Amino acid sequence: MDKTNKPFIIAGPCSVESYDQLREVTETLSRLSPVQLIRAGVWKPRTRPGAFEGLGEPALRWMQSLAKEYKVRFCCEVARPEHVALCLQHDIDTVWLGARTTANPFMVEEICHALRGSDMTVLVKNPVCPDARLWTGALERLQQAGITRLMAIHRGFSMYHNNGYRNAPLWEVAMEFRREMPDIPILCDPSHISGRRDLIESLAMAAMQLDYDGLMVEVHPHPAEAWSDADQQLDPSAFIAMLEHLTSFNRQLTDSDISYLTPLRQQIDDIDHEILRLMGQRMELSKQIAEVKHARQMSVYQSKRWEAVVADRLRQAEALGLRADFIKEMLEKIHAESIRVQLEK
Ligand code: PEP
Ligand code: MN
Repeated sequence: MDKTNKPFIIAGPCSVESYDQLREVTETLSRLSPVQLIRAGVWKPRTRPGAFEGLGEPALRWMQSLAKEYKVRFCCEVARPEHVALCLQHDIDTVWLGARTTANPFMVEEICHALRGSDMTVLVKNPVCPDARLWTGALERLQQAGITRLMAIHRGFSMYHNNGYRNAPLWEVAMEFRREMPDIPILCDPSHISGRRDLIESLAMAAMQLDYDGLMVEVHPHPAEAWSDADQQLDPSAFIAMLEHLTSFNRQLTDSDISYLTPLRQQIDDIDHEILRLMGQRMELSKQIAEVKHARQMSVYQSKRWEAVVADRLRQAEALGLRADFIKEMLEKIHAESIRVQLEK
């Protein structure tokens, strides 16, 4: 995708359920200019047996003919090499790896083998577990197989406590992924993160605030009757309303926006410079302390002193309204560096 083309929107039903359902949703989505791809699940990875597992090849035939009729492009999940072969036979040029597949390097390798030599666009959902390296690893395997059109999708992570989400949105894990692979566009899937319709818009908005490149959203003509993920699909009118809110948010910064930001950013710069200057002084003192400890044969790590420092700074943090976990983490980083500096002396 072209990064100026933001937000890149993929929308469509969790699963293809019938020709009429797919036609109805395609007709609606084909009229919405922000929608660049229609998603529609053909093979469904179900946690427990007995649930609807997708219609397979007939769904691909309907996608192939509706793509021509409505001049749209479809995408679906592939989880096996045979799925890739069937997509290629039915002119599907974009596929995604689901969260369970990304977590399994053997499967990713087999799918890469099937994709080699094609010019498919491949989207890679984050793995179910919060491990950014499995995610980057899957993209690296695809790159090594010669796939150049790649995107990532943050669909949340499976945690024991999900704080009311179906899959917890660990933005910091996605951020780690983005730092590792800054050239890979990243979309957010608020449907699989939330598991509930009423949270989708606020998650989509958070993704825009975090400068995501786009969204993958589940949209069904009659969500309450959906055969899979009925609680999290939007009906077309709710989806259209959400798109209007998003597009008004996602405008370019104007000169006037920048003139409001500049003096505040200048103050942030000054504060950061001051923090770094003080950090330099602090490390200098650590070196002097190291000399005293060395001369007096004292150990570098003094646990009582460290506990007292943490308790004192946490009291100050509380009085200033700063989050204790954040300050504790910062102090631990500073302490580790101070110990390193002292051991070097
Ligand atoms: C899906 O997109 O329908 C799906 C099953 O997603 P995930 O792999 O994120 O669970
Ligand atoms: Mn789904």
